[in-house]
Amino acid sequence: MSIGARCGSCSRELLLGQLVQPRDGFRCPFCGFAFAPAYATVAPDVGARAMAAQAALVTALAELGSMTGDRLRLDRATVVDPVANALPQAKQPGLARRRHARWWARGATAQPTPQPRTAAPAS
Ligand SMILES: [Zn+2]
Repeated sequence: MSIGARCGSCSRELLLGQLVQPRDGFRCPFCGFAFAPAYATVAPDVGARAMAAQAALVTALAELGSMTGDRLRLDRATVVDPVANALPQAKQPGLARRRHARWWARGATAQPTPQPRTAAPAS
């Protein structure tokens, strides 16, 4: 079982399982696009958790179904909808580009103060 994905930059299809090695930096294996620029060290673990949770949910539902049969019918929408709602809505490429442009514009107007660099930690 795998979770499919699509790169927001090159639009190539990939699997979430291709991104769970922390040394790979949570980047597109085709074009190198950083999927979680500020979270590259933690995102692989979160991705792995999502895959494990999906597998656990599917396994538990199948197990429960084999125990109950027709005697218990789970409400499909209450199982599937929370998962579907947790996924970001697919955006059209044009909208994504505009959003990206605004992000850069915000960064340009913010004028972050440069951090003084120290040669070595004080301790
Ligand atoms: Zn890509």
